[in-house]
Amino acid sequence: MRVADLPLAPEYVEHFEREGIAELYPPQVAAVEAGVCDGDNVVAAVPTASGKTFVAELALLTADGPGLYVCPLRALAREKYEEFDALPGVDAGISTGDYDSAAGDLAENDVIVATSEKVDSAIRNGAEWVDDLACVVVDEVHLLGSPGRGPTLEVTLATLRRRAPEVQIVALSATVDNPEDIAAWLDAELVESTWRPVDLRVGVHADGTVEFDDGSSLSVPVDAGDPASDADTEATAELVRGAVADGGQALAFVASRREAERLAERLSEERLPAVADGVDRGGDGDGGDEGDDAVDNRETTAAAVADELREADGTETGERLAETAERGVAFHHAGLSSDHRALVERSFRDRKLSVICATPTLAAGVNVPARRVIVRDQRRYTGEGTEWLPVLEVHQMCGRAGRPHLDPYGEAVLVAEDGGEREGLWERYVTADPERVESKLRDPAALRTHTLSLVATGIAGSQTEVLDALGGTFYASRTSNPNLGGVVGDAIASLIDDGLLAPTAADGDAGIEATPLGEQVSRQYVTPDTGVRIVEGLETVERMDPEAVTELTAFEIVCDTPDMVDTYLGNAERAEIYQFARTRSAELTTGMMEAEDFEGWLESVKTARVLTEWVDGASVEELVAAYRIGPGDLESRIERAEWLLGAADAIAEVVGVDMPAFASARKRLVSSAEKEEAEEAEET
Ligand code: ADP
Repeated sequence: MRVADLPLAPEYVEHFEREGIAELYPPQVAAVEAGVCDGDNVVAAVPTASGKTFVAELALLTADGPGLYVCPLRALAREKYEEFDALPGVDAGISTGDYDSAAGDLAENDVIVATSEKVDSAIRNGAEWVDDLACVVVDEVHLLGSPGRGPTLEVTLATLRRRAPEVQIVALSATVDNPEDIAAWLDAELVESTWRPVDLRVGVHADGTVEFDDGSSLSVPVDAGDPASDADTEATAELVRGAVADGGQALAFVASRREAERLAERLSEERLPAVADGVDRGGDGDGGDEGDDAVDNRETTAAAVADELREADGTETGERLAETAERGVAFHHAGLSSDHRALVERSFRDRKLSVICATPTLAAGVNVPARRVIVRDQRRYTGEGTEWLPVLEVHQMCGRAGRPHLDPYGEAVLVAEDGGEREGLWERYVTADPERVESKLRDPAALRTHTLSLVATGIAGSQTEVLDALGGTFYASRTSNPNLGGVVGDAIASLIDDGLLAPTAADGDAGIEATPLGEQVSRQYVTPDTGVRIVEGLETVERMDPEAVTELTAFEIVCDTPDMVDTYLGNAERAEIYQFARTRSAELTTGMMEAEDFEGWLESVKTARVLTEWVDGASVEELVAAYRIGPGDLESRIERAEWLLGAADAIAEVVGVDMPAFASARKRLVSSAEKEEAEEAEET
């Protein structure tokens, strides 16, 4: 099937042909046959790089009205937004930033790209554009199974379908075990395929050989001579060396940030050949954009990447990253600033880097294919010990292997400790099916959040109506007897206890409504627990000496909510933060003896202290060095604090407590961020 045969205006056909899309890939043909261009609901469960974006574009372009593209990650959202906005005559909008605006002007766009949280927030704030949607594309729909975000995705989709019953739903999924359940929920035709544009073989390395699932094997002897390094790392180094010597690029996945940095440092000693010099030895010599890029890239070097990295971020982490990048190796994890992460991804895609050593987060992220993927660690650290990575996650890592047009094939290798472990890994990951996707809506915290929002937005005014609204969820479709009545009843009772919901004045009809506090909590997009913590903080503030209420007080309250990310507190630091909390205890809303979860509270005090120093003018470099956090950690905490302080300020107003420190702390956070940006702009 050719693009020219599709019901698309000529300018689109031309556009796609320019992009190198002339003939449809088999899963795309299947999606067209399933009705993606005819307004029908389609679930496509297909591997990475099999052309899902084009399927999304087909749905959006043939829909009879505005479209919404729901995407889990911001970095990804940006990529898609740029792609859609480049379509001739298409005006795209993006909504992924702060959580609380009504974003009325999005109504003007043909295509809106947003995270599910942002869509949920827009609905809670009365956005009317959701009623006009003709098409909703949901990317990475298998995230329905993730504890935090899954419930938001399913409730939001259920609400969207209620608001716009005719809306076309196209859901794109990784290959999971039960895509038919997702399709049944969405009344959709299922397109399931394992087709990939580049062949992939997956294998396990042990005792000097890789055995692949296609029956082939590869000798990769490991010189265990270096006593400072373990056998897994040496095997990984050998596998990386092989891929790069062959003109390819490699991605190596390890368990932690520290391991990613260590491995990058270890590999940077290798003097790997620069990938840009050895372009495309095995590829099909295909011309087009990729070929031109490759020619351009030969003129650039890893040194230029290092310079760019140094310019973007002058922290010690940034410097170490630049040093490894000079040798063609980068590390990638959530502790890096978002600029750095984006730069590493882009440089790798442009073949200016040979290797990325990453934590598993990269596997779910943006498009960074490589000739060879090496999964050195298959376990991750938890609070208590280590646990096996989910099969789906390892499959997603492996799926990154093989770059269309550039690699003749992709290879993914799991590194086993020895022959004994080979078999275990083989069964666990190579031959195993990925996990089933199951709803996490039954979680009490998720039900509290969504029950409050359904009532606050006026969708439901009684327990029966809440249950009715939840009837459209994945959860309800999965069970013949959802029996949510009990848990929803508990959620309602607890929300009434917390003062977020109240029985309606009108007699015994079991009517419920949101209190002004509940309404504000829902609008501000904070969880009910966060709302409760802020209210408790405000009650304490009222009893405090007004002189003692400072910005530290404001930061402590918002940092101690479940919506703030935890900050790691090392043993050595604990005593110091404890001392700090003691010295400043008059300004804090929790007494040293009162905290239910003392460790957790001390971590919040650390976050509050970091943010206070930040608004007082400390630089990223200083804070990163003093508190052993990554620039990316600081970034995410600043951003969350900005949102939570805004929410707390609105909540203070509703409960009638005068707490100007919320607004002033927020203002100073914003201006510190602006100052930092201005300084950066000046430097460049
Ligand atoms: P994913 O399925 O991971 O979302 P993408 O949609 O990003 O994959 O597609 C991967 C690459 O394949 C992109 O560079 C895209 O331009 C290219 N591509 C998609 N469909 C076709 C096609 N029919 N012919 C040639 N290239 C295609």
